[in-house]
Amino acid sequence: MALVGVAEALAQILAGAAALPAEMAPLRQATGRVLAEDLAARRTQPPTAVSAMDGYAVRAADVARAPVTLRMVAEVPAGHPLERPIGPGECARIFTGGAMPSGTDAVVIQEFAVRDREHVTMLRPAVPGRNVRAEGLDFREGMILLRKGTRLSERDVMLAAAMNHAALAVHRRPRVAVLGTGDELVPPGSQLRAGDIVYSNGYALLALAEAQGAETLDLGIARDHIEDIAAAAARARQWNADVLVTSGGASVGERDLVQQALAMQGLRLSFWRVALRPGRPMLYGRLGPMHALGVPGNPASSYVCAVLFLVPLIRRLAGWADGELGPRLEPARLGRDLPANDERADYLRATLVEDENGVVATPLPDQDSSLMLPLARADCLLIREPNAPAAAAGSPCVIVKLRL
Ligand code: AMP
Ligand code: MG
Repeated sequence: MALVGVAEALAQILAGAAALPAEMAPLRQATGRVLAEDLAARRTQPPTAVSAMDGYAVRAADVARAPVTLRMVAEVPAGHPLERPIGPGECARIFTGGAMPSGTDAVVIQEFAVRDREHVTMLRPAVPGRNVRAEGLDFREGMILLRKGTRLSERDVMLAAAMNHAALAVHRRPRVAVLGTGDELVPPGSQLRAGDIVYSNGYALLALAEAQGAETLDLGIARDHIEDIAAAAARARQWNADVLVTSGGASVGERDLVQQALAMQGLRLSFWRVALRPGRPMLYGRLGPMHALGVPGNPASSYVCAVLFLVPLIRRLAGWADGELGPRLEPARLGRDLPANDERADYLRATLVEDENGVVATPLPDQDSSLMLPLARADCLLIREPNAPAAAAGSPCVIVKLRL
């Protein structure tokens, strides 16, 4: 199989991925998720005219000129609407959010009124509507206020609550299972023996998936045996994973155990090498409905592949819009000279500094795909297209910031 380009690889992955079915999520679990249906208000807000201030509800006609003294006949706190109307020459003590009693149409704020038992002298004239929030000022019952496809912000969820919805139809959260492979791998915190390497990739992959709203299953570490890897893939299927991400077992030269193990489970392979650095030996295919993404074992490769392919896949499954799936490409300028590139796209780990002309991206000196320290220190990936010519410091370039 030939090398596929990054864009083509992503297109193949997304071609078979649609937004997951809708489910009802309580409001507290709805932020960040994508609305699967238009949402109409179930009520009018405010449901009736209410006072915007603490003061006195009056008939504005009574207070056309000031000072004027009215008789206070009732108190109207929020939540306690008045049954009786307010007649000419009368007023009601009212508090913010209190329903305007029938007959009244303005509020004189308490700072402009002097009260002597049931007599209140208004010191300023009132005009109709002053200090009153009209019925339906915010929205009216039946209005569609949130559209299908909206990725719900916390403000949208606040609005949905005010619309009197307790739960919202949103796309199901993608379920992502993550597996490490390698005889040398041991969990962090182990008593280390000769030859041990601490398992690290999975921690970034799981966290990245969770940050995108996925539910995750940590499948731990499989040994370099086809049966072991196949059994882990079967566990992912039993858990109804939408995506299985494996790392390792895919290096060129090594027996490609992951591919063989997944093949045993019925993998329909789409591709297994991408014109990418770091990350060439990446595979993608389907195991029944489950997407299988086999990222390379080298930590920087596994992470770059996750940013480029896993994140967009999760977003698509979660219902995000097409334009929002991929990492956001931003312009920058090169912080140092770069040589001409070969046939693979390069995703260089780079730092960012801002100067008066914008951002400057400087690739870290060692770009080996095994290195986690420069990956952790990097602010961005600096993208070099395949066969890009040599580029001088100061020339424009394209980056992806790593705080996704
Ligand atoms: P592989 O793709 O299995 O040949 O792995 C390539 C390199 O990445 C080897 O040096 C592995 O030890 C290392 N590696 C593989 N998987 C992991 C992992 N989950 N965490 C840290 N290093 C890994
Ligand atoms: Mg390995």
